[in-house]
Amino acid sequence: MAIESLQALCTAMDQVALQTWRRLEDSRLPGRRFDETSITDSNLDAMRRRVPGLLIWQSSQSNERETGADWEWWIGDDNEGWLSLRMQAKRAYEDDTYAQLRHGGADGDSFQYDTLIRGCDADKGYYPFHVFYNGWPKGYFHPGTHWAVPAQWNACPNMRSYVECGHAEPRHYGCAIASSHDVKHLCDAQDPSRYSIVNLLSRAVPWSYAFGFPPPKMNQEHRWDSRIDRGNWLDRIHGTLVVLSERGGASGARDAAGHLHQIPLDRGKRTFDLPTYVQSMRRTAPGFFEPSTEGEVPAAQHTVIVERPPKRKRAPRR
Ligand SMILES: [Zn+2]
Repeated sequence: MAIESLQALCTAMDQVALQTWRRLEDSRLPGRRFDETSITDSNLDAMRRRVPGLLIWQSSQSNERETGADWEWWIGDDNEGWLSLRMQAKRAYEDDTYAQLRHGGADGDSFQYDTLIRGCDADKGYYPFHVFYNGWPKGYFHPGTHWAVPAQWNACPNMRSYVECGHAEPRHYGCAIASSHDVKHLCDAQDPSRYSIVNLLSRAVPWSYAFGFPPPKMNQEHRWDSRIDRGNWLDRIHGTLVVLSERGGASGARDAAGHLHQIPLDRGKRTFDLPTYVQSMRRTAPGFFEPSTEGEVPAAQHTVIVERPPKRKRAPRR
């Protein structure tokens, strides 16, 4: 089953980001607390309700410890191949860091991000990302804004600042992504501010941007219109992931926003044989998935499939 529109997916991701912001902002009130798991669960639930054709499975068993992934996205189709995003979620803490980035890794890896990176392979279309859950009151970092000043604002392809940008506002960073390679680079440095929100947000963009940056247009700035569904959007997403993870990160992708669909790509660097658990999931209804063999144990607790709709055939001319 394919999604009906990429525009609906990106719009839903933005709505979920705003909702995450609100929940984390509220969690600073006494007696409230949300951890990454409960945020991830409710976010995926909201996405399922808002995006027709989006398929989501949850499993009680997973190889999460071995992969370091909280959830896995599969994007593509059987003809053009599949891309996989493996994501690790970290929430912002009141000490202005993503404190859980200190979490140790599996099998001799120093950190959990090392485990996540080791399990991915760009030659097969597997990309590691961190998603940061953010939310704090307006004026917390800087008067009059929600933005974590002085973090670099990468959400504007027109290079405008967080004050002038019409593509996004700071709360769209409620769910923000950064390449795990960039996260590792920052966290491995012996810098006392290595886990700080300001430091890491400078390498991040709103998570909907993984599916394509809004196009630069000087006069009118808006986010997702129906044109995002045109053309081969799998190529555009692939190009975006390549730039975000290997060629310049968030600021590089912002600079290349107008031609992310033209990034030179090796379309062979995708997965054409889906793992056993994904094949088994596709034969069952989305929802709860109970693995019956070892090979059916998923890489992460949550698996999301974003399938490209089949190309519409043009009506024959008469
Ligand atoms: Zn802008």
